[in-house]
Amino acid sequence: MEIKNKIILAMDLLTIDGALEVGNSVINYLDTIKIGYPLALAEGLPSIGLVKDRFDCKIIADFKVADIPETNKKIADLTFKAGADAIIVHGFVGPDSVKACVDSAEEFGTEVFLLTEMSHPGASRFLQPAAEDIAVMGMEMGLKNYVAPSTKPDRLKKIREVVGKDSFIISPGVGVQGGDPNQTLEFADAIIVGRSIYSSEYPEEVVKSIVDSIKL
Ligand code: C5P
Repeated sequence: MEIKNKIILAMDLLTIDGALEVGNSVINYLDTIKIGYPLALAEGLPSIGLVKDRFDCKIIADFKVADIPETNKKIADLTFKAGADAIIVHGFVGPDSVKACVDSAEEFGTEVFLLTEMSHPGASRFLQPAAEDIAVMGMEMGLKNYVAPSTKPDRLKKIREVVGKDSFIISPGVGVQGGDPNQTLEFADAIIVGRSIYSSEYPEEVVKSIVDSIKL
């Protein structure tokens, strides 16, 4: 996936009006927006198509899909039907569940991002010990896209080693959670930034300063 300025905005706002306002102020600097449960549950699945159409941008649906294959397929189908260009899927549920989402993506001509490890401190208890194995599974399945944490550069580096230089890694946790854009981009292809941008009084200034600070 081509991502302008290597920045994905995590649009975790609770109103579509708020999302459109933030989007308006930053859309000149980015072309990919991540929509997850906060906005989709608050405003419904159509918020995906609404944001996509308004800004003519790519949407990554961060639904961290983690169910049995049959249910995963239904979730992915509905998400792609709503206009998402990609969906984030948990790897810990195993290859059959992930494959159900891959099958859906193939039908819709869209993409799957495999979540290997999360960015918050608690992820070190259960997910971290499994993360490299999850990445290995992704490679065995022929997946190209991965999610790995910017808050743990050593872990991000490890995941990069497993998936190789030809895979595409997007990395959340930059900003409020402590991740650094340039350090993250040593191992990731794009950073995901949420609160630092949308909670700021001046979202455009924040995005601009991140873009300026990134050595593209
Ligand atoms: O506000 P902040 O910049 O911390 O937002 C990070 C975004 O990335 C949130 O939408 C969060 O749910 C998501 N995310 C994460 N860690 C992961 C996967 C997704 O923080 N491993």
